Amino acid sequence: MKITVPVYPDYELREEYLREFRRADVDRILFVVDREFEPEAAKKAADNVRRCIEFYGGFGYSCAVWIGSTIGHGVYLVGRGAEEEREYTLIRGVHGEERGEAYCPLDERFRRDISRFVAAFADVGAEFILLDDDFRLAHDFVGCACELHLAALGKEIGRPVTREEIREKALSDGANEYRRAWVKVQGDSLRTLARDIRRAVDEVNPDCPVGVCAVGTAWSADGVDSIEITEILAGKNKRYMRLHGAPYWVRYLTGYVDESFAHVTELERALAHFARGKGFELLYEGDTYPRPSDYIPAAHLEAFTAAMTGDGKAQGILKYMFNYISKPSFDCRYVDAHARNKPSLDLIEAHFKGGANLGVKALEHPHLFDETDFALAHTDGTKFYFSSDVIGGAGTLLTGSNIPVIYDGEAEVVAIFGENARHFSLADKPRAVIDALAAAIYLKAGEDLGITAAAELKTAAVAAVRGFGDEYRLPQRAAADYLDFKPGENVRVLTSMKSSDGEIPLACEITTPGGAKILLYNINASPTKISSRSFLMHGYVTSRTLKEGINGFLGAKMPRITGEYADMQVYCRREGDKLGCLFVNFYDDAAYDLVAELDGDYELSFAVGCEAEVKDGKLAITTPVAAFGYAFAELRKK
Ligand SMILES: [Zn+2]
Repeated sequence: MKITVPVYPDYELREEYLREFRRADVDRILFVVDREFEPEAAKKAADNVRRCIEFYGGFGYSCAVWIGSTIGHGVYLVGRGAEEEREYTLIRGVHGEERGEAYCPLDERFRRDISRFVAAFADVGAEFILLDDDFRLAHDFVGCACELHLAALGKEIGRPVTREEIREKALSDGANEYRRAWVKVQGDSLRTLARDIRRAVDEVNPDCPVGVCAVGTAWSADGVDSIEITEILAGKNKRYMRLHGAPYWVRYLTGYVDESFAHVTELERALAHFARGKGFELLYEGDTYPRPSDYIPAAHLEAFTAAMTGDGKAQGILKYMFNYISKPSFDCRYVDAHARNKPSLDLIEAHFKGGANLGVKALEHPHLFDETDFALAHTDGTKFYFSSDVIGGAGTLLTGSNIPVIYDGEAEVVAIFGENARHFSLADKPRAVIDALAAAIYLKAGEDLGITAAAELKTAAVAAVRGFGDEYRLPQRAAADYLDFKPGENVRVLTSMKSSDGEIPLACEITTPGGAKILLYNINASPTKISSRSFLMHGYVTSRTLKEGINGFLGAKMPRITGEYADMQVYCRREGDKLGCLFVNFYDDAAYDLVAELDGDYELSFAVGCEAEVKDGKLAITTPVAAFGYAFAELRKK
């Protein structure tokens, strides 16, 4: 993977940085610049970057520029930058609330000034300019409902619209004309800004590519996705897009979104899937914000890098290994860990080229927001803007439960979760995993799933999971939305949820009257409704249940880890006689005696990062897989 590192352009420290770049064997340097609306200050910043690019370019490094703030994050990320005068229209939410330093793209003066700032870097010798992931309207709230946006919305609908109407019509129930107008008006305002930036850059240097850091909301409430924005910004040039979903989310965003590592990796992978076949250069988001490694461990970044090597769909990673504030010598641990791992990960990559191609295929539709029925899932539409709302939750549940997942290519078994059911028919899919919301949508559409239930979800407080002749008690109850039905003879209940309302089927093996096999995981697994850290989304009993249903009942032919491991991810690639297996341990305990049952007779070719043997149709990793470590084995069919 091509390694790109973001740093501040500090010419005085150029030699110190150079030593670290060499040690890390980086491919590209991305110079971060803070937003400046004052033209003289922008020119000074551009001259400084030009000087740095000349220096590092002399050592053969490719260099690019990263605009740290375009629309504005609403917060200062690193405490830099002077207080800006609020002379532009601020982004305003559907309750009229403001977001500081985040400006509405419908404000012409803002568009003019920010475009001029970006264009100041068009001729400094950069390979490309990259805009950060604040190229969005939804952030702390669902989008922009400032006076300018209200006027545009009124024009689209044909009469004045209030914020109350947006809340009650555009952001509730199912698809309707208000939702369509919201999506169009929000999206168009971002498209206009992207076009203005491209035009301003063209005036200085039409050959300078401009790219963007993707953000999940672009596929939901923002109304235009980062793929289209990338295409507008690039103009006639090469397209660059950084993906979204970062290892720092798990520790840093605790209490805010409560993401698991599985959710982070699967969001990245789903977005890479959305951008497939477009000729983009994609970069994974190896972000360790706020960066000292005594806060976000280097091990988290390395495990993430290993997992993305397993995905193998992007050309590189934006790897945040330098503290933006202190000298490069203050915290070298990210570079230390990277330098130790790189030879092994490069070797794995060479034998895993193209990435995972064997697993359950998670079917994801890129714009769920447009047609989501908020009433069906009892979801508050005004809160439907988190980056996590972009995907249905299938990949998160399965990857976090030791099951290989893919997004592209062919697979025997598919997973269709949540609102995706509106976009993918079950008709030609004889073996599928679905969740409760997908089942409700299919039932409402008249599909014969082999069960009878009102297409309405209920909520339960789950105290324990029962199954396999045992009961798994939980220290705290978990709220889960489920489909209420009585299992018939064609349904085998694998596990059930114990709640105050009685026992509710959790994992069900269903054979439909048409002969299709469906594994129903009877909770709404959408990240809008349940934390990916919930015990119903990962952990030993979830993992055992899903492996039983997928490898057993659905008969998926792929390696199956025996025994259960929390947050152990598996990436598999089959090519001719070869089978590659990459295990990434995202848990704090080492995994001892890791064994995977294979689908045939294999022999070991070689292993990386571990010792391994193949015996009796099983792959055994005979050395421990450390916490946040990885193990790779390549096998050959006998
Ligand atoms: Zn606005």
